[in-house]
Amino acid sequence: MSAPKPAPGDRTVIGITFGNSNSSIACTNDDKAEVIANEDGDRQIPTILSYVDGEEYYGQQAKNFLVRNPKNTVAYFRDFLGKDFKSIDPTHNHASAHPEDANDTVAFTLKDKAGEDDAPSTLSVAEISTRYLRRLVTSASEYLGKKVTSAVITVPTNFTDKQKAALIAAAADANLEVLQLVSEPVAAVLAYDARPEAEIKDKIVVVADLGGTRSDVAVVASRGGMYTILATAHDYEFAGAALDKILVDHFAKEFMKRNAGVDPRENARSLAKLKLESESAKKALSIGANASFSVESMAEGIDFASTINRLRYETIGRTVFEGFTRLVESVIKKAGLDVLDVDEVILSGGTSHTPRIAANLKAIFPGSTTILAPSTSATAINPSELQARGAALQASLIQEYESEDIDQSTHAAVTTVPHITNAIGAVSVSESGEEVFVPIVPPETAVPARRTVIVPAPKNGGDVLVKIVEGNTHIKVTKPEPKANGDSKAAKVEDAGDSDSDFSDDEEEEEEKREKVWKIGATLAEAGIRGVKAGSKVEVSINVNADLSVTVTTREVGAKGGVRGTLSA
Ligand code: ATP
Ligand code: MG
Repeated sequence: MSAPKPAPGDRTVIGITFGNSNSSIACTNDDKAEVIANEDGDRQIPTILSYVDGEEYYGQQAKNFLVRNPKNTVAYFRDFLGKDFKSIDPTHNHASAHPEDANDTVAFTLKDKAGEDDAPSTLSVAEISTRYLRRLVTSASEYLGKKVTSAVITVPTNFTDKQKAALIAAAADANLEVLQLVSEPVAAVLAYDARPEAEIKDKIVVVADLGGTRSDVAVVASRGGMYTILATAHDYEFAGAALDKILVDHFAKEFMKRNAGVDPRENARSLAKLKLESESAKKALSIGANASFSVESMAEGIDFASTINRLRYETIGRTVFEGFTRLVESVIKKAGLDVLDVDEVILSGGTSHTPRIAANLKAIFPGSTTILAPSTSATAINPSELQARGAALQASLIQEYESEDIDQSTHAAVTTVPHITNAIGAVSVSESGEEVFVPIVPPETAVPARRTVIVPAPKNGGDVLVKIVEGNTHIKVTKPEPKANGDSKAAKVEDAGDSDSDFSDDEEEEEEKREKVWKIGATLAEAGIRGVKAGSKVEVSINVNADLSVTVTTREVGAKGGVRGTLSA
């Protein structure tokens, strides 16, 4: 089927996030995004389909069928879209329909029709996705009271072109126009930046999207309302399912202790029950200090009830929790940045509800970094809703465009674009007579870019020389003053990173102070303006062109003419 192309005026749009574990649908209402609850009342809708007697179930109802109807239930398939069978990881499909090789693409065999004689169908992952998306669209249409025609859908930053094309085709088969695919971390940033109280300023944001089967972290530079992805990292080990597994093992061992070594993990149905209840306990531990755990007929007809407290959970889950922190650290490093460069950390995805994860991240960032998670910020948005909200906002922004124009008009805002690495700024003289760097165009600004600053001319007027240079930051580490000998020796200053002796002073109790300082780099331009009037001002404009060349214009405010120079940075 060819892609539906409704005229802009005929569209009804929503935002969709389509995850391996859960999906969400969202719409906007007076410019405010809201996540839609489906007919079961769920806003996080499990990405699962299940067939019983020819009847199709989706979402939470399908998830519950993992216990009694696993063979006709298909889960964790989103990542297989547009992939070769050889390249997929079927780990999470053990307890439901297994992926099969269908001419190199992925398929599942399910008995999706009623009647004893009907043979099971082999359905491509594209067909499964279409059927699932159709259910989402139906739920959204029912909620809105009109047929949803179009959507912005979020995708991971490492979705290939082939995967994107497969998703667009699967949506088209569900009679859904994909207005645009937006990368998941950018959707999360959009959701925050669209709030009325949001202050849109240049900033570096780390988006930690911690899901069920994968964790994706991105460093995003927001410069003048443009988003640039500087670095990404993906991990398929440290995610929500790993935390479920820890609780499964914990309660299985307790059950074995009480029941003569009967291991509920050895029976498929017992394991399925154990998994579902472990996930519930895990979610309860995000809110409360204790969680109860109870399963009827857990194994061999024996009921089981227990509890776990948060401290115990945090102890047994430590390795996984530490994995998240390391992943975040690694991507900041990959972007060539330091934790001090990060203004905000947005915790996104279901697993981000976990207080321990937010607390561990808070500990590695300076106090100046805002950690946006439910447990660390009263104004945090529900991490499970960020991406769908961002997608809905983007959908409402672009719904007026003809479909041919959408890619172009919104390209820069949502994809990786060329950007400068170092800052560009002017050299100024501080009160103590030292030359200091004054940033004008921050590092990681997407190009082309233009920034203008006004600087006061010397008090008495005269000739003004403006020197435009590159600036880069380095981390200045100030060791606390040794307490023992009360002399007022100046604190030692060292560069971070190049010192082998950093870890040698074990007795150092107080924390060293780390701060970001600018270093003057290569000179890009020097512009002189002669005979500036006393008390007047000089305007400096810097244009960074798409090819990264830089044009600098300086002029006296109110005077005619100016000095212009072009050079390559
Ligand atoms: P993926 O594609 O990585 O499989 P997803 O993006 O589809 O995941 P999300 O809804 O972001 O899915 O994350 C699902 C994970 O979040 C599950 O492991 C779920 O148990 C976990 N989760 C959801 N809510 C909470 C909560 N309140 N506390 C802790 N974990 C939670
Ligand atoms: Mg996700």
